Amino acid sequence: MAIATVNPTTGELVREYAAHDEGEVNERIEQARAAFLAMRSTDFATRAGWMRAAADLLDAEIDTAAPMLTLEMGKTLVQARAEIAKSAKAMRFYADNAERFLTESMLDDPSAVGASSAWTRWEPIGVVLAVMPWNYPIWQVIRFAAPALMAGNAGLLKHASNVPQSALYLDTLFERGGFPAGAFRTLLIPAARVEGVVRDPRIVAATLTGSEPAGRSLAAIAGSEVKHTVLELGGSDPFIVTSSANLDRAVSTAVIARVTNNGQACINAKRFLVDAAVYDEFVAKFSEAMAALVVGDPMDADTDVGPLATASGREDLIELVDDARSHGAGITVGGVPTNGPGWFFPPTVVTNVTPAMRLYAEEAFGPLATVFRVADREEALRIANDTTFGLSSAVWTEDPDDEAFFVAGLEAGAVFINGMSISYPELPFGGVKDSGIGRELSAEGIREFCNLKSVWKG
Ligand code: NAP
Repeated sequence: MAIATVNPTTGELVREYAAHDEGEVNERIEQARAAFLAMRSTDFATRAGWMRAAADLLDAEIDTAAPMLTLEMGKTLVQARAEIAKSAKAMRFYADNAERFLTESMLDDPSAVGASSAWTRWEPIGVVLAVMPWNYPIWQVIRFAAPALMAGNAGLLKHASNVPQSALYLDTLFERGGFPAGAFRTLLIPAARVEGVVRDPRIVAATLTGSEPAGRSLAAIAGSEVKHTVLELGGSDPFIVTSSANLDRAVSTAVIARVTNNGQACINAKRFLVDAAVYDEFVAKFSEAMAALVVGDPMDADTDVGPLATASGREDLIELVDDARSHGAGITVGGVPTNGPGWFFPPTVVTNVTPAMRLYAEEAFGPLATVFRVADREEALRIANDTTFGLSSAVWTEDPDDEAFFVAGLEAGAVFINGMSISYPELPFGGVKDSGIGRELSAEGIREFCNLKSVWKG
């Protein structure tokens, strides 16, 4: 895939970028290694000062950074601005909390190990490669970079090929905040050259956010080099509506949960499992609300849903709907993409989904919801877990017994009760099953790329 900005609203090529050659990549890895060695001897307060300065820059530059996201991948300008603000907030969160998360811990009873004292300490490990997706071009990177740099590591970014302007913006952000040159840099390279970087002895670990095949490939390479990986992969999150749910709130939240980011978030609710007692009412209200969404120019403040980010993403959705239709699915709204420029796909609701359809098992990455009628909570849980993914989940219920049943039974990295899945810097984020390995955000996120060193003193 060419490294290029192509405007998804018009389909027009805005600008193509030359990939960094091997010499440039080598130089950036070398710079990152040197920056790591320099940062290792800095204290948390110094790094926090640089991180806050970088967050201030991001905030101050929102009027140019946000439209850049909309131009490159089609999210609405309103949501692009929210992404910038959230990223700056997460940077300050790690500036404020990194030292506390990485504080030394004394063993309560050192005599148990024959020591006069014993403790553990968290240390940075070196240069970490981050392979990132286009769907949140700034946020996905920041949630790796902010904790990694606050821990004292250096980072190298291989961003998705369709967001080079975002990648180059991030290339300088941390240095402009005060971090040593090379502490965080972008490598403009295609996916095929990731392997060479992962195998470079100066790279100590890697993280990938993206699709399952990409994650498997990176983890296999890193595994063969005995290098740690964190993987944040796909999801097909269930959104369960029980008979005791506040239905109107569930419906209005379901719409946002499905179409946020033009339906291209890993934690969008994708499968709606609705108790038979409220199914007809839910489908009617949900379909009506999905049909009422404004699809159009993402720069326009009134637009709810912009285009999909890529032509191939739109093609994937068309194929999933055609397959479902040919196997007898019902489509209550949408399903037929409009002609004309841009990669638009209408908000779509698919019912009567069966395991014979690809939509049952595959992640639909766009504003497409599947709705299932379930007889009881056991059937809801069975279908919710009948997926290779396990990222997040949501349950709508006013019944404490149902709540406990789903919280314990859902195979997912998170459960949101009477709400929708959202990432917060304060909460660990990650999945089980094919949705990934490890955690980002919170204390767990910063510890992923640290050496937990035990110290024993006789
Ligand atoms: P993708 O094709 O896997 O791309 C993600 C990144 O991986 C890009 O930088 C891509 O580079 C690179 N890449 C692709 N194949 C690779 C390979 N074999 N080896 C090394 N790197 C490779 O994913 P996408 O289609 O852009 O993103 C959508 C997917 O990401 C969805 O499944 C979504 O659920 C998931 N996602 C997960 C999370 C999470 O936190 N769990 C968050 C956001 C998105 P190129 O662009 O150059 O191909």
